[in-house]
Amino acid sequence: MNISSRIKSVPASTIMELLTYSAEAKKKGKKVYHLNIGQPDIITPKSFFEAISSNKEDVLEYALSEGLDELREAIKRYYNEYNIDFEKEDILILNGGSEALFFCMIALCNEGDNILIPEPFYSNYNSFANSVGVEIKPITTLAENGFHLPKKEEIVEKIDSKTRAILFSNPGNPTGVVYSKEEIKMISDIAKEHDLWIIADEVYREFVYDGEYTSLGSVKEVEDRVIIVDSVSKRYSACGARIGSLASKNKEFMAQILKLCQARLSVPTLEQIGAVELYKTDKSYLQDVNKEYKERRDVLYNELVKVPGVICKKPTGAFYIVAKLPVKSADDFVKWLLKDFDIDGETVMPCPAEGFYATEGLGKDEIRLAYILNKEDLAKASKILKEGLEAYLELDK
Ligand SMILES: *Cc1c(COP(=O)(O)O)cnc(C)c1O
Repeated sequence: MNISSRIKSVPASTIMELLTYSAEAKKKGKKVYHLNIGQPDIITPKSFFEAISSNKEDVLEYALSEGLDELREAIKRYYNEYNIDFEKEDILILNGGSEALFFCMIALCNEGDNILIPEPFYSNYNSFANSVGVEIKPITTLAENGFHLPKKEEIVEKIDSKTRAILFSNPGNPTGVVYSKEEIKMISDIAKEHDLWIIADEVYREFVYDGEYTSLGSVKEVEDRVIIVDSVSKRYSACGARIGSLASKNKEFMAQILKLCQARLSVPTLEQIGAVELYKTDKSYLQDVNKEYKERRDVLYNELVKVPGVICKKPTGAFYIVAKLPVKSADDFVKWLLKDFDIDGETVMPCPAEGFYATEGLGKDEIRLAYILNKEDLAKASKILKEGLEAYLELDK
């Protein structure tokens, strides 16, 4: 019996081996601060749980395939507050941003087509693309430039007759980059000139700490080719709800996606009922969360750049930092942190960044750090990381 070559081409999670190292460390009584995962620790608004527990239905029915009306309305109102002009009909509810991304690839690409993605990128993009036979053409961005986009020519030269779309996360996971107004304009121009779709993964929209944010949803000239991927996971710290959405003004695209929504029947009814309340959450919640993350970023960043040779521009969004280290192998460094290093019985676990690149050989000397711990723990973890790196570099002398 055969397994498809499509599914075999999907990369297995690269973190598994490292997790055995951290399990080993914990068994020996070490405390491990996890900076390797993107699960936020912020409290989910209570209104989510209250809405679910006060639900009085006797039968838990399928919800509409396109999503609950109330939820689509709530998201429409949310967008309108950000000057993003969507109607209820332009919004579909999906099982997380993940399903939204998956459906986009299925709907926009034939097998053998390709999409442009700035690298390093969210590694699940790989899994979605590979499993439907779509090739990723990476646009390499650099730590030295804070992972901002290269010149237009460099992007355009990657486009061929099989290129269908440009996809990116903005604010960026794993880099924390927030694209400038000019970069958004450049992407829009390229898409228009080369007839490409734009898949804008904006699940970190509120996580912007310095400067302005430009959503692709507010660029009128490309509104017929823009698809906004969204989610409550990071915004309201509700990763387990599995509620995401797609928004687009392109009616033909939406009609095709709806067929997939109908085939998978629906998104969980109760979580949608809870999500309606999330989208009504007072803006002060998001402002408080934003302030908290900004402080955390500063704690981690300021400690990290004390080590000579570390290359890292201060990221301005999401809750991640990618840093280039003066080491040969970030993977070896992380293993060493877990196995051979501690301060008073405590160590840290960063994530090696190689898995975020499509180009062979890139990212080997880089790590991604998620600042999802409270400030006190993060301050300790940052100090351990800095001293660990210094000690590791001494070994090589
Ligand atoms: C977390 C994340 C998603 C998807 O999250 P869901 O929980 O499926 O909504 C999508 N894109 C990026 C960049 C993410 O970090």
